[in-house]
Amino acid sequence: MKSILQNKKESYISGSTYNLEEHHIFFGTANRKVSEKNGFKVWLTTEEHRGTYGVHGKFGRGLDIKLKQDAQRRYEETHTREEFIKLIGKNYL
Ligand SMILES: [Zn+2]
Repeated sequence: MKSILQNKKESYISGSTYNLEEHHIFFGTANRKVSEKNGFKVWLTTEEHRGTYGVHGKFGRGLDIKLKQDAQRRYEETHTREEFIKLIGKNYL
């Protein structure tokens, strides 16, 4: 499934179109599949993805949470909170 957060192939954070990587917003073995199936993914630059301040980086927790909240908010435009928690096991809002 395509991303529920963006239509264009550009960085979700900066709009850059260079060095893009696909990020699954809820990661880890089980959640990656859930993310794929429900479009919980965004394009990020290499730096935004795996750099020190990137979503998987040492100081990336703020960005990680922001993306999770954005995804939950968008999902809940068409689904209930209960449905979200059933999928992800957690409420981020
Ligand atoms: Zn990622």
